[in-house]
Amino acid sequence: MNFSKELSVLLEKEFEEFHIFKKKGKIRAAICIGSTVLSKSFLFNKGQLLSNTAIGGIRRKKYPNYETMLEDVRRLAYEGMTFKAAFIGLKVGGAKMVFRNDIYDENPEECYEFIDRAINKLNGLYLGAEDIGMPEENLECLKTPYILGRSCGEMSGDPAPFTVRSVFVSLETLLKFLNLVSDPKDFSHLTFAVQGFGSVGNLAVAELVKRGAKKIFLSDKDRNKIAKAQDLYGNKIKLCIAYDPETDYFSEDMEICQKADIFIPCAVGFIINSRTTPCLQFKGICGSANNLFAVDDDAAKLHQRKIVCPGDFPVNNGGLVYTFTLLENRGTKYDPAAAEEMIDKNFGRIYDLLEKSRAEKKAPQQIAVEMAERKLAEAKIAPKEEIYDFRDEQIIKIHNL
Ligand code: NAD
Repeated sequence: MNFSKELSVLLEKEFEEFHIFKKKGKIRAAICIGSTVLSKSFLFNKGQLLSNTAIGGIRRKKYPNYETMLEDVRRLAYEGMTFKAAFIGLKVGGAKMVFRNDIYDENPEECYEFIDRAINKLNGLYLGAEDIGMPEENLECLKTPYILGRSCGEMSGDPAPFTVRSVFVSLETLLKFLNLVSDPKDFSHLTFAVQGFGSVGNLAVAELVKRGAKKIFLSDKDRNKIAKAQDLYGNKIKLCIAYDPETDYFSEDMEICQKADIFIPCAVGFIINSRTTPCLQFKGICGSANNLFAVDDDAAKLHQRKIVCPGDFPVNNGGLVYTFTLLENRGTKYDPAAAEEMIDKNFGRIYDLLEKSRAEKKAPQQIAVEMAERKLAEAKIAPKEEIYDFRDEQIIKIHNL
């Protein structure tokens, strides 16, 4: 594999720092710091001053090649976590870590030790949290202090309930904007298609059931998850067991699913792409999936089809807000009430975004990206009392651990 080719592609993209971790000549993991320009200083754990820092999940995933792995972590760090923080006004940077599934499968213990050493190398620049393939119980296996998202006192570090809260605040806003509800707690005349019955999806389905949704179509590629949903909700929801590996989308009952009023994607990214967009018939899309659009242009194409979607990072930021409260409290306690207050402000933010989108005839995601980019650019020239530091060079480091 010609690794220098992958690196030269990276240099054309936005990021602040890239750290690639190798062992015995093989790349095992990467951390990308999207940007720390928005970060203020924090006192952390035993009084260590973190002068600029970035939060992001640790993702375990199978990657077909290094190029896909590096672009995934970069996009999640910059267009995902950094934009999320910028959009909601959190004074912290965005980052992500990914490590290869096959390495974990070979020897989980050694893998945890490797992750510890990789994160410690950055000395608090990167603070890891839960992500796909790295649930809270796995975070407990790590020894590095630079982790947010572990349970703390009585409080679980699981961000999913807060992510679901931000998804539902955004969904209520979307339904109001589309004039589809008079009572935001009553969904009895609406149909939904939910993709993914994992940490976020299962809470989303529970909330839809609670609000009396008329019909819910649920798709998960894992048959055990479908069986679990069947046990919980019986004939209340229509289950789609199979999915199409070609498009990573619904296959069984495709026709019916497409006709649901609202699509709630809570599984994989890139689900709005050139193959799915032309067949979608939803009135709106609002879910937790990161990197919802395969390429930027897909948001515009969806908008042209008059399907209203507030985007990904404007919607799924609740988990980050909750995790951030731990950092604000020197890593000693979560503050769920403060997180909920901050998340509920999404109503106004998303409503403004949708109105701007209508006025400017642009996709909400495009407008949100422009807003986030503007905030990052302004932070670079802002007086530095609050915003501590910024990097004007890109750094790529390869660590042999
Ligand atoms: P999870 O791993 O717990 O659940 C994902 C579910 O999707 C699994 O049940 C999996 O079997 C299913 N799935 C995977 N591919 C699928 C496909 N093609 N079709 C149908 N089902 C499929 O993940 P999660 O924590 O629930 O996160 C879901 C999405 O939300 C991810 O994109 C994640 O990045 C994003 N997100 C999660 C949080 C959070 O707080 N957990 C925060 C922000 C964003």
